Amino acid sequence: MNPRLSALRISFLYLIAATLWVWLSDQWLQNVLHDPASLARALELKKYGFLALTFLVLFFLLCRHFRRQDAAFAALADKEQRLSRVFEVVEDGIWDWDLETQRVYYSPGYANLIGLPLEHLSDDLLLWEQRLHPEDRARILALHQDCIQGLRTRLECVYRIRHGDGSYRWVRSRGRLTRGEDGRPLRLTGVNRDITHQRSNEDHLRQAAAVFEATQEGLLVTDARGVIVHTNPSFSRITGYSAEDVLGGEPSLLKSGRQDAAFYQHMWTALHENGVWSGEIWNRRKSGEVYPQWQHIRAVRNEEGELTHYVAVFSDLSSLKRSQHELDFLAHHDPLTGLPNRLLLRERIDQALARAEREQGGGALLSIDLDHFKHINDSLGHNIGDQLIRAVAERLESCLDERCSLARLGGDEFAVVLESQQPHHASSLAQRLLEAMSAPFEVNEQTIYMSVSLGVSLFPEDARNVDHLMQHADAALFQAKASGRNLYAFYTPELTARARSHVQVESALRHALDHDELRLYFQPVHDLATGRMVGVESLVRWQHPQKGLIAPGEFIPVAEESGLITAIDAWVLEQACRQMRQWLNAGIHLDFIAVNVSSRLFGRGGLEERVALALEQSGLEPHHLELEVTESAVMENFDQALELLCQLRLLGVHLAIDDFGTGYSSLMRLKRMPVHKLKIDQGFVAGLPDDSEDAAIACAVIALGQSMGLQVVAEGIERPDQAAFLLTHACDFGQGYWYGAPQPAEVLLAQLPRGTA
Ligand code: C2E
Ligand code: MG
Ligand code: MG
Repeated sequence: MNPRLSALRISFLYLIAATLWVWLSDQWLQNVLHDPASLARALELKKYGFLALTFLVLFFLLCRHFRRQDAAFAALADKEQRLSRVFEVVEDGIWDWDLETQRVYYSPGYANLIGLPLEHLSDDLLLWEQRLHPEDRARILALHQDCIQGLRTRLECVYRIRHGDGSYRWVRSRGRLTRGEDGRPLRLTGVNRDITHQRSNEDHLRQAAAVFEATQEGLLVTDARGVIVHTNPSFSRITGYSAEDVLGGEPSLLKSGRQDAAFYQHMWTALHENGVWSGEIWNRRKSGEVYPQWQHIRAVRNEEGELTHYVAVFSDLSSLKRSQHELDFLAHHDPLTGLPNRLLLRERIDQALARAEREQGGGALLSIDLDHFKHINDSLGHNIGDQLIRAVAERLESCLDERCSLARLGGDEFAVVLESQQPHHASSLAQRLLEAMSAPFEVNEQTIYMSVSLGVSLFPEDARNVDHLMQHADAALFQAKASGRNLYAFYTPELTARARSHVQVESALRHALDHDELRLYFQPVHDLATGRMVGVESLVRWQHPQKGLIAPGEFIPVAEESGLITAIDAWVLEQACRQMRQWLNAGIHLDFIAVNVSSRLFGRGGLEERVALALEQSGLEPHHLELEVTESAVMENFDQALELLCQLRLLGVHLAIDDFGTGYSSLMRLKRMPVHKLKIDQGFVAGLPDDSEDAAIACAVIALGQSMGLQVVAEGIERPDQAAFLLTHACDFGQGYWYGAPQPAEVLLAQLPRGTA
């Protein structure tokens, strides 16, 4: 209602009513009172009466008006106070944009939202506009304009606004346009809410959801009553149940029955007390298959601490268990034969020893080694070698009963643990195993004969722990091999003593190498026909600080077994080359210097390089160096030896076969060997000239050498009749105490026994 119009209307009504009253009451009084004096008095009275009446009416009306106005003002003030209190407590930012003045009201909450002190709030639109994130600004301004122009009925948007601390906060803005009666937009009013935290929570939730969907672990969520409310794809993959199968159901449908009630009780107690439980649990898949899983359950509580959910995360352990089982098998078994390996054998021996102690029982460990298996591998190839090992394993196993357990320790080594109190059981088993090998093996259409050697150690008599038992069985095996193979030998304490002295010699020899205790002696080699000294053989000695001079026979075998022979022979080679160079430089005309090469070194490789290096370093011409390899070393590994001999010969050095006659050379093989000399073993020379067998062999070797164009040297000539016999039979050279024992270089030179140089 228009207040002016209303006032005008009321005033107008008053004017008409008053005019009518004045006019009608005057007329009526003039008609009623004819006396002019009475009429004048009445008119006077009427005039003041009218004034009094209107005064009273005006007074009451104004009283009522002012009372109402006061009430309205009070209500308004009250309303305003309430509103500003609301604005103060509302954390959201309220704004009111007057579109005509372009001024904006920002509530205290708005100051809080953008991190400004209250007193810095202005009514400038720029306060808001300049804080918009550059990426959001254009979009947000356009949205507000759309709303002002009526293109949208409501404003609703999310954007970033700069906070006082420089960071950007996410806000959700909601607003509405107010129009005037004429439809003009008057103001845009709205509320901004900081949703940064909510948004990051949403982000986290989204990420968590993505993780749950993608994770390999199965996930199952129940409410507080234990009703399944959520599962992930991995749950379905592991259990076989789809989400629809289980939602609304209970996790107990996965129970396998493998765990008893006490297990679950313990689990629930842990969950109630600590809020978490983890452990291995066996469940049942939809297919009925029972499988192990590692499960982690957590109780979820809301902010008030009330239990709302249980979340179970689990992984399927079945493949892990399977591979653990496989790994365990691999770790304890030999892949070629499937037999227990050394590790498992040790465990079994340990158990057998413990049982023997508990039950006053006993038993034996049989160490088994195939004789000359290396030949098979080298000559027929590893494939056949492997097949043969498998066949041997089968055959060995067929000889065993339930008291025995067979293992393969690697290569061609096997072992059997026998649990029996009777020592003769061990020997009869060993005999059985030897006999089982006597029949040939058919491998890849080839017939192969194979024998084994066995070493037997008894427990508890020989040893009470695994290491000793194994060492003793090995010592016995070594003994069996040394005694000619295809045999078995029992352990004896002397074997240990021998092994111990072996160890002592080895460590003393290491010390000797480091402290220059080795000496090189030289034994002359003479031309039998002319008597001239044509060369020398280098022979190593060990000048022991306490024991004096030690012959090579005492330490070379130890050096060969321990590998020290490499260092010894390298030292000898180097010394010999250097010595020969010195002699030649001094005008002594020796044809050659001979150096012994160990059979071990011979088989190991690297020899060719070492020889070349020694020659180069000493400056000795290769034809002055003669390498002696024993016949047995060559025959043991013929193909490899042949190749190496050819390479050595290419270097230009001379080669001799030492101890000839002891190594069962075949003529076929001998013919192929690129050597220059044969050295008749001193064992055959010793019986000359009377022993007819020795004489026959010596003559045969000389004839063989001549027929193949090789020179022949006789070793160990101690007497002139031996030399004479050999000369008669056209042996080329002689070596032995008759011509001179091995001597240090300076002594040899001083003596120069049979005129050389
Ligand atoms: P070998 O190469 O056959 O050497 C000949 C052995 O016969 C030498 O023994 C020598 O002293 C000995 N001897 C020489 N003349 C006579 C004799 O008239 N009567 C008798 N009964 N013996 C005689 P030694 O020096 O004790 O060497 C023994 C073996 O040790 C050598 O046999 C050789 O196989 C090995 N040897 C020696 N020195 C070395 C070396 O530096 N390296 C390697 N790997 N082996 C070596
Ligand atoms: Mg020799
Ligand atoms: Mg010899």
